[in-house]
Amino acid sequence: MGLHVSAERGRCIGAGLCVLTAPDVFEHDDDEGLVSVLDATPPAEHHEDVRLAQELCPANAIALAVPR
Ligand code: SF4
Repeated sequence: MGLHVSAERGRCIGAGLCVLTAPDVFEHDDDEGLVSVLDATPPAEHHEDVRLAQELCPANAIALAVPR
């Protein structure tokens, strides 16, 4: 099943847990240190990491959706 990942930069506080947890999917941009999504539709092997990153994000900035 697919998974669509988005991150709300307005909420991100740059804690970096998502980047540590799922480095193939999230990165920090160099200017503001806020989250960017590298891969909005990651392959299944990264889904568990992405779900964990969403749980760990202290700002509740990561949203996951299952596309129809
Ligand atoms: S874990 Fe949340 S607050 Fe921290 S960098 Fe990622 S999106 Fe931003």
